Amino acid sequence: MEEQSLRDSLNTYKKQLVQVNLAISTFEDGKDKEDLFSLKNNLEQLIQLTKESFQQLENLTASTSSSSDTSTSFDCEYALFMSEMEKDGVLLESNETSSSKILNIEDELKAIEGMKCKAPHKHQWGDVIYHNALICSVVACENYSSMDDIEVKVMFINPTHEEMLPCPYLLESSCKFDDEKCKYSHGEVVAFSCLKEYIEPKFELLTNGSKVLAKQKN
Ligand SMILES: [Zn+2]
Repeated sequence: MEEQSLRDSLNTYKKQLVQVNLAISTFEDGKDKEDLFSLKNNLEQLIQLTKESFQQLENLTASTSSSSDTSTSFDCEYALFMSEMEKDGVLLESNETSSSKILNIEDELKAIEGMKCKAPHKHQWGDVIYHNALICSVVACENYSSMDDIEVKVMFINPTHEEMLPCPYLLESSCKFDDEKCKYSHGEVVAFSCLKEYIEPKFELLTNGSKVLAKQKN
């Protein structure tokens, strides 16, 4: 599926861009930072190009696939599902427009990428604690029926534990571990609805020995 692979690479580039931006914010001015900036430019161009070819493919499939009628059982199931959803008052749109609606939703969701927020992280001892984070990407979803379906991948900005640190190998896509196995973070998938407002950390108020209050859900 060319569409899927385009989507995949777009997501990868975006992830890398976020990583580069994160790296830029932590680097001192100098040669390394300049390299990062040119990498950032390259990535942005790459993202633009991929978006364009994705758009072209989209137009192409939209004009060819609309006339074909395949798998009636799927259509039946889909109709049933939609009517159930309508009964629940979750979904109001008709079948014809729903696929373009999804595209619109995805477009709108793109706007939240790069946004700062507070995201929950489940620590090894079992507590869920909110930390400052950056939204790297929106997880692609086939069917948005409610806000709870929207999932985002976040990176923590002020990591307090190793597993929250952005994986240094992810930038070159060269990490040999998969998302679960790596001891660093490849981005954490969380429900968009559980994100909280970003709060600027006040480091200057922290001195050695000062007590720290961590905000916790429930
Ligand atoms: Zn890794």
